[in-house]
Amino acid sequence: MKALDELTFDNRFARLGDAFSAHVLPEPIDNPRLVVASPAAMALLDLDPAVADTQEFAELFSGHKLWADAEPRAMVYSGHQFGGYTPQLGDGRGLLLGEVYNNAGEHWDLHLKGAGQTPFSRMGDGRAVLRSSIREFLASEALHALNIPTSRAACVIGSDTPVWREKQERAAMVLRLAPSHIRFGHFEYFYYTKRPEQQKLLGEHVLALHFPECLEQPEPYLAMFREIVERNAELIAKWQAYGFCHGVMNTDNMSILGITFDFGPFAFLDDFDASFICNHSDDQGRYSFSNQVPVGQWNLSALAQALTPFISVEALRETLGLYLPLFQAHYLDLMRRRFGFTSAEDDDQQLLEQLLQLMQNSGVDYTLFFRHLGEQSPQQAIARLRDDFVDIKGFDAWGERYIARAARDGDADQAQRRARMHAVNPLYILRNYLAQRAIEAAQGGDYSEVRRLHAVLSKPFEEQPGMESYAERPPEWGKHLEISCSS
Ligand code: AMP
Ligand code: MG
Repeated sequence: MKALDELTFDNRFARLGDAFSAHVLPEPIDNPRLVVASPAAMALLDLDPAVADTQEFAELFSGHKLWADAEPRAMVYSGHQFGGYTPQLGDGRGLLLGEVYNNAGEHWDLHLKGAGQTPFSRMGDGRAVLRSSIREFLASEALHALNIPTSRAACVIGSDTPVWREKQERAAMVLRLAPSHIRFGHFEYFYYTKRPEQQKLLGEHVLALHFPECLEQPEPYLAMFREIVERNAELIAKWQAYGFCHGVMNTDNMSILGITFDFGPFAFLDDFDASFICNHSDDQGRYSFSNQVPVGQWNLSALAQALTPFISVEALRETLGLYLPLFQAHYLDLMRRRFGFTSAEDDDQQLLEQLLQLMQNSGVDYTLFFRHLGEQSPQQAIARLRDDFVDIKGFDAWGERYIARAARDGDADQAQRRARMHAVNPLYILRNYLAQRAIEAAQGGDYSEVRRLHAVLSKPFEEQPGMESYAERPPEWGKHLEISCSS
């Protein structure tokens, strides 16, 4: 365990120089105080969780203090936003404080979100509000607990600094951790500004630090692109399997590491709804739940375009062609496990599609359905779940198929089946209304609810005595919360 002043920095991205990022100091927020911290994320930096309660911790992650070896930088990038190209974006309200390496030899970017204005702030104030900071914190740590690759969040620091959104709110900062903050949009920036030398430097940096195994391949860039395609196919399969809707899949929000990145108006599905749009500003539904799959491919082709100086168009095309089949394979594999199956049958895809259609028509809670499916034997579970469906006949027919399929799978031991299914079917997920309740308490100065919710979500598969209410379906008000990009 390390004390706060014992972190060791090695700022490799900063060393790329001023073409890649600008030196900017964080602008402090007033009266900083700890809202919530994640001991698991702090452990990535070898930090003792107890340091979160010190004044020094709040000062370091609110811009009041800085390590001597930190080198705060605002990164420049660009990206396709809602399908259109924006030539220059960048860290408009976040700073890469530096790269810390831990005792295990891993590097972690320390990124402070909400740290004030930078040369890339455009019209923005450089701030993040408490509401969006809590949402990013909870989502990062909840996705991680669900085994979904994601950036992490070590803490939220609140303040008295006023910030104007639709109304006056308070500024906060999140300390985000990731092995890299490089996005698809970094490659796009140097490609569209026609700076091949810098683009090559960026490419070499990414290969050497984040895809070293690709350097041993005959075509390292192609191997790297292939790896990025594979990771994205797997990531989006996990989002779809667990009902996670990102909300703003612009290419500047896509990590080259294939991790969930840049949380805005995200949501987990409550009732299953393939066409669900979590971002209130997304009028066309470009980033609706089911569109995430083709958008993943669209984003990868935007990256492919930016990689044409390194890789032939034919090779890029062929590699892009791997995305959909890989997505399908991962998705089906995950859903078979959620069904409790240990074997694969050709008709499983159809069985799944039929269920999703029935759930869609009846507005069935996506998470609880799967949890309850494993709670009892297939027969008992189906008998209990049928009441949730409007089309009972349709569901009964589906239930018979499921029971027969489960019998063919050959696992008669219900205790084993239950354990296997509960290990992949969470009881607790970050429902929007749960986040909202925690945010409202925190806005009133009470941080106990956000801390409790974080603790519950860090063990989503385990029944936690006394926490039953966190596993319930949302109340009516909680199903229709409007979450926009304004954060
Ligand atoms: P986002 O929607 O959070 O991914 O942000 C898109 C772009 O807008 C990024 O370049 C952000 O840095 C920038 N941005 C968002 N909010 C602000 C803000 N309040 N101040 C300055 N820049 C911002
Ligand atoms: Mg962003």
